[in-house]
Amino acid sequence: MRELRDERLTAQGARLWLKWDDNKRRKLKYNLVAARDQGYRAILTFGGAYSNHLRAVARAGREHGFDTIGIVRGEEHLPLNESLAYCVAQGMRLSYLDRASYRDWPSHVDALRTRFGDFYLVPEGGSNALAARGCAEIAPEIDVDFDVVCCPVGTGGTLAGLAYGLPDGKQAHGFAVLKGGGFLAGEVARLQREAFDVVTSNWSIDLDFHRGGYARRGPELDRFIEDFRARHGIDLDWVYVAKMMLGIFSRPPGTNIVALITDGSNLYNRSYDNCTYAKS
Ligand SMILES: *Cc1c(COP(=O)(O)O)cnc(C)c1O
Repeated sequence: MRELRDERLTAQGARLWLKWDDNKRRKLKYNLVAARDQGYRAILTFGGAYSNHLRAVARAGREHGFDTIGIVRGEEHLPLNESLAYCVAQGMRLSYLDRASYRDWPSHVDALRTRFGDFYLVPEGGSNALAARGCAEIAPEIDVDFDVVCCPVGTGGTLAGLAYGLPDGKQAHGFAVLKGGGFLAGEVARLQREAFDVVTSNWSIDLDFHRGGYARRGPELDRFIEDFRARHGIDLDWVYVAKMMLGIFSRPPGTNIVALITDGSNLYNRSYDNCTYAKS
């Protein structure tokens, strides 16, 4: 962890510490234990063509001796992009589902079992109760005196576990990276209930910084990333981390803030050519 000194925060009476944290690895930890305990040899999951989650599963499979099957949204494009090439290099088998079928993936699981044999299923994005349990181990590692800890929110598993793991009096604040994230609070509550039998009241989700939607960005976010790199020498991942950081700088959610830099499994923090610009 390290403190980030920035006059724009100081002017607003806030201090910020950064904690680099590979949340995708944490989300898989207890799923891998469960898969092993239940005798599975293969893990199947779902993701987009640039999914951090697919790469994390491929890597975990190689490290822990599971076969992995990645069901990719959309059509196959050859040559594989860097992200999917990485998955294959880790030993993952890829298969594709067209977008309409992908949206309705639960109804395809039986067919996938017929095709690939039995497997341990990890949902898209990796968020389930065991993922939340893994993320509950983040908070005890924060070794500065803080009042609020922030993370980006994609599917909500990270925030659910992070908030549960906090000691009394501390808050977790998530920034939704997708548009129409009103449903996310329900997801975080569901994941906490399934993982811990309780929904804590120490978290909130800011919906104002998605900047056009998931994997979308505009000139304002780009300028913020460029400026951040110039000031601090840190490349912010634009899909998740930069949106959270823009939110923190625009509206600090506390006085002693910790921000999770979650892009441990991101290959792209230096590359911007897989971007989609938001219209405005
Ligand atoms: C997946 C991901 C998140 C969001 O985690 P959720 O548990 O899905 O909310 C945040 N940052 C990065 C870099 C990610 O890959």
